[in-house]
Amino acid sequence: MPIHLTFYDGVNCIGGNKFLLEADDTAILLDFGTNFGAEALFFDEFLRPRSITGLCDLLDLGLLPPLRGIYRQDFELPERAWWERMRSRSLYRELEVHGVLLTHAHVDHSGYISFLERSIPVYTSLTTAVIAKAMQDTTHGGFDRETCYITPREIKDGLLQTTHYKKVPYEQRRYVIMDVGQIQSCVADFWARPGSSRAMNCCPLEACCTAEVQVGNLLIKRWPVDHSIPGAGAFGIKTSGGWVIYTGDLRLHGSRAAETRAFMQEAARLEPLGLICEGTHPETKTPVTEDEVFAHVAEAVRRANGLVIADFGPRNIERLLSFLRAARETGRRLAVTLKDAYLLEALHAAGEPNVPNPLEDEGFAFYVEAKARREVWEKFLIERYQEHCRERVVTAGDVSRNQGDYVLCFSYYDLHELIDIQPGSGSYIYSSSEAFNEEMHMDLDRLRNWIKHFNLQLVGDPGDRQGRGREPGFHASGHIHGAGLIELVETVKPKVLIPIHSEDRSFFERHFTGKVKLLFPSPGERVELDRDLF
Ligand SMILES: [Zn+2]
Repeated sequence: MPIHLTFYDGVNCIGGNKFLLEADDTAILLDFGTNFGAEALFFDEFLRPRSITGLCDLLDLGLLPPLRGIYRQDFELPERAWWERMRSRSLYRELEVHGVLLTHAHVDHSGYISFLERSIPVYTSLTTAVIAKAMQDTTHGGFDRETCYITPREIKDGLLQTTHYKKVPYEQRRYVIMDVGQIQSCVADFWARPGSSRAMNCCPLEACCTAEVQVGNLLIKRWPVDHSIPGAGAFGIKTSGGWVIYTGDLRLHGSRAAETRAFMQEAARLEPLGLICEGTHPETKTPVTEDEVFAHVAEAVRRANGLVIADFGPRNIERLLSFLRAARETGRRLAVTLKDAYLLEALHAAGEPNVPNPLEDEGFAFYVEAKARREVWEKFLIERYQEHCRERVVTAGDVSRNQGDYVLCFSYYDLHELIDIQPGSGSYIYSSSEAFNEEMHMDLDRLRNWIKHFNLQLVGDPGDRQGRGREPGFHASGHIHGAGLIELVETVKPKVLIPIHSEDRSFFERHFTGKVKLLFPSPGERVELDRDLF
């Protein structure tokens, strides 16, 4: 039987992966992420899609594919007959899906799960589930942030509104965990615990005993891979027409490169028909490795006088651990925000390798910012830390008095804290990706103003709009480089190669034309894979 793949998003661009695989009377989604670039065509930080109209804004603007039957019914405004309007769209269809395969917890792969019907199971790793839950618990509201549990909506005065928190609990989504045989009670407790005052109607995590699971008539396999967030995986889908492999995001230059190579070998043994393969940075010749980043970061912390600020991507735990090691080696503590502490505790409970328990580890301090109101999860952490390790709970005043004692994990959104800390001197280590659009450049311009105002030294300068003045070695990409992609494709040897999450078609044409059948689907295009055709 043929396999049909529809690439609703995530082709000819970076992120927003939303692919549909249909074979053997089973339909599954391969990621269902937010496309930030497409959203930015219509929205910004202040002009947001309206939650009161549910799916309408996103469907109307084409940010969500018009697939009737897969979305939350409590996000529909029936009297406006939006679905009737959607019928005229070329991509409109009625559809039932049997599950979502979630490769990792980056929002460009997971964000729009928020809009899916709650009963659709999400197949992923334990770490990905835990990160997604921690993100939702610690992020303020947002109807596009309901990847793990939903806040039920009701119609009032013709518009969708959240039901009062005392009346209706959160309703949890169904997550099926593919990399552990049993869910430990501490993780089950974390999963069941709401982050705010609303109660949780928990749907316990379901564990598979093996890295394989049957979804409808399809067998699904998952392999762990190296990426810039823990818990990332690639999937294989066994259909009657052959195997299809989906890489998600991966790389070969982090501490788990061996996992990516093991995935390549095992995928090759399946002699797959199709390989859906990321190609974010094929132009990179020699990638900066995480080991090199650690060496640069450690040297910068050693040289610093006064305060050190470490700015790196959220949930890049490998980078956080590099800064922890650098802080330890120089007799400093790594001061993390409560959000980071919450995530670290959850990852430690989930058994994520190398993640220490911040409560027990003397290397951590907990930075408590001044706030008028705190959520339940924040109060829970502060109370515990004050009870167990009061000397490691620090405020801006504590850091201000002892600036040489800390490496502070801050990012752009924590910059106000500098006004309260009043750094006398010190280093701001920028260990994050370069700006790749105008908004990011404007944020970087503002960041430079803050750094200058407080007489800090910028280390790891990402450079100006032309890349001038760039200080390399302070950031390692999460994505596989050109030679790695060649190794991947030549190892797996698919019949058909489908590049996604990429803006560089020419790399694939140059290297693989004549070796494999190359498919470059357009957004929304439905392609048929049939072994007999290739
Ligand atoms: Zn990613």
